Amino acid sequence: RAKSIGFGQIIKYDPELAAITRDRAQRLGDLQLAVDRNQLEAHYQPLIDFKTGKPCGVEALIRWRRDDGELVPPVDFIPLAEYSGLIRPIGNWVAREAMMMARRLHAEGFDTMRVSINVSKVQLGADDFVASLTALLEDTGIAPEFVELEITESACDMGIDELEILLHRIRKLGVSIAIDDFGTGFSSLSYLDRLPVDKLKIDRCFITPLDDETDSSRIAELIVPLGHRLGMQVVAEGIETAKQAQKLAEMSCDIAQGFLYGKPMPGPELLTWLQNFTPIAAEQ
Ligand code: C2E
Ligand code: MG
Ligand code: MG
Ligand code: MG
Repeated sequence: RAKSIGFGQIIKYDPELAAITRDRAQRLGDLQLAVDRNQLEAHYQPLIDFKTGKPCGVEALIRWRRDDGELVPPVDFIPLAEYSGLIRPIGNWVAREAMMMARRLHAEGFDTMRVSINVSKVQLGADDFVASLTALLEDTGIAPEFVELEITESACDMGIDELEILLHRIRKLGVSIAIDDFGTGFSSLSYLDRLPVDKLKIDRCFITPLDDETDSSRIAELIVPLGHRLGMQVVAEGIETAKQAQKLAEMSCDIAQGFLYGKPMPGPELLTWLQNFTPIAAEQ
């Protein structure tokens, strides 16, 4: 426990605290090195249109490929990147990769595919966020209508007025906005009505229970019409079984995402996946 330090005061050395600080500094150094050495990779998970049964987009998901080939998931380094501010260059990098991937997909004939990019509240809070986004759209030459930003309810922390203005500026560029992990945050429903949002992504924790015969499908059942009434499309995250997909289709959910269809994969693998895609028949 660090106390305020004045003359004559003795600072008690806390080995536990020192170890945590040392560990964090070490991990931050590692992450900085990973950025410098281009060890970050963007993987892409398909999104499927429930109506047509065909892929309509991909979500870019970042990974860190260590020297030994080990793939580090984002939960293990995104929080540190946010805390340290490294998320800004990292976020810029992944957005560029994703936009270039969309151009590649279009060139390969998948010319209606959109790309979704996760944006943390730390990135959104940067003064130059809209300017960077504009520059990336210009540099990569992707039409903004194929780009979507995923933000979480925690973005409301910056203040609802500021967020509303910011989202309108983003929308004005032609880029669309999705609320990620919907239902797990604490944003009020009046905010949701006020903010210019195109899609709601229902968190996986409301999708998994659809397998049960019990009453546990209630939340998903409520979110779909809520989104529709607010003029939004609804995406279901983390679909793993045909039964979940079937129930969501019956609820008129718009877009599906989950291991049932495809896991996040590197760009070249995604292209092969798309070329070999055959629509999954709904369970009878
Ligand atoms: P998210 O944006 O909600 O992404 C969905 C997560 O669910 C991904 O985990 C994805 O691999 C996983 N997922 C998808 N379908 C299934 C399924 O059927 N079953 C299960 N068990 N999981 C599924 P991932 O890639 O580990 O990413 C975790 C989180 O890290 C993301 O959650 C997002 O919040 C953050 N993240 C990932 N990439 C980025 C990035 O480029 N920038 C920022 N700021 N955050 C990122
Ligand atoms: Mg997401
Ligand atoms: Mg999510
Ligand atoms: Mg999630």
